[in-house]
Amino acid sequence: MKRIYLDHAATTPVDPSVVEVMLPFFTEGYGNPSSIYAEGRAAKKAIEAARLQIATAINASSSEIYFTGSGSESDNWAIKGIAMKNQAKGKHIITTTIEHHAVLHTCEYLEKQGFEVTYLPVDEYGLISLEDLKKAIRKDTILVTIMFANNEIGTVEPIKAIGEIVKEKGIIFHTDAVQALGNLPVDVKDLNVDLLSLSAHKIYGPKGIGVLYIRKGVPIDNLIHGGAQERRKRAGTENTAEIVAFGKAAELAVQHLEDNMIHMKTLRDVLIKGIMEKIPQVRLNGHPEQRLPGNANFCFDYIEGESILLSLDIIGIAGSSGSACTSGSLDPSHVLLAIGLPAGVAHGSLRLSIGKNTTMEDIHYVVDNLVVIIERLRKMSPIDANCPIDDAVFAKASHHQH
Ligand SMILES: *Cc1c(COP(=O)(O)O)cnc(C)c1O
Repeated sequence: MKRIYLDHAATTPVDPSVVEVMLPFFTEGYGNPSSIYAEGRAAKKAIEAARLQIATAINASSSEIYFTGSGSESDNWAIKGIAMKNQAKGKHIITTTIEHHAVLHTCEYLEKQGFEVTYLPVDEYGLISLEDLKKAIRKDTILVTIMFANNEIGTVEPIKAIGEIVKEKGIIFHTDAVQALGNLPVDVKDLNVDLLSLSAHKIYGPKGIGVLYIRKGVPIDNLIHGGAQERRKRAGTENTAEIVAFGKAAELAVQHLEDNMIHMKTLRDVLIKGIMEKIPQVRLNGHPEQRLPGNANFCFDYIEGESILLSLDIIGIAGSSGSACTSGSLDPSHVLLAIGLPAGVAHGSLRLSIGKNTTMEDIHYVVDNLVVIIERLRKMSPIDANCPIDDAVFAKASHHQH
């Protein structure tokens, strides 16, 4: 059965041209980049070419690009590294309530180590207020970390305006731009950011490779200690194949940015319009315009997000829900709660994230089937406050399939 993948915010397929450039580094290009013989030098050269590709993609210089093991590691490094290095100046950090867990849990960890963290609230669309930010800044604030675009509801924060405010106060500014690259223009100079996190697997590259941009001169401690790799800032033998892949993926992301943005936005708007018009008692989460071109996030009253996901999966559609009963968590998404949704409503959420290869045909198929699924689920099972996995619905639906 044909599958329709609408979970690009979770991860993306690796672009065939990215696979092509990375494969030779497993077989012939396996030399350790720190070695001085030919195999080592070739690997080193490939890494430096990829570093330049990524620097170019975000208007940085190569010497400001550091490879890490993931977007999560980049976030951890930025926050812990700045906190540790600058704690003599102060121990106050500002972030938001809707960050990715790689940022939120790192901040919570630092709170246990004696740092103080202000979590800026967001409005009903997921936007922070610049006034709130200004008020939160203190003499002992050493770091502001605010995400570029939210992975759940797609809301894009006013990063350039935030950067200006933070820069004026002489405070270090980090942004998690993992969802932004490939979906929005990312220019570190224009945005006034000091540190910026990226991850390859969200832009049609492989999993397990990230980047932290560190503006020249920003004082930061190491997170991973060991060998002298990455100009003595991040130890560990370089993942040459994935670094090369990330370089290619970043180059493609920027090369086709405008076309991809228009394509995704066109499909997204058809998807949103179709669902809002054809299904009663549904709400769109996130900002109506200031959102990622491929992101659509809804709450359907009286149904579990999990039940919708299972019904979609059966007919070949992959989506995502903020609440994850099947993964053992009864907690609704912290992002949906932060935009003011009651827990009961937040449980009925569905995120569909479009990619560059999604087609209009896919979107029509999803809308048509979702209308039927939602109607059926509403007839079958009134929502239970305990967030049960709706086995009955799943069993019945899969029975029809076989
Ligand atoms: C996916 C994601 C991350 C984590 O990146 P990994 O490479 O999967 O560790 C961090 N922040 C945001 C906003 C993300 O979407």
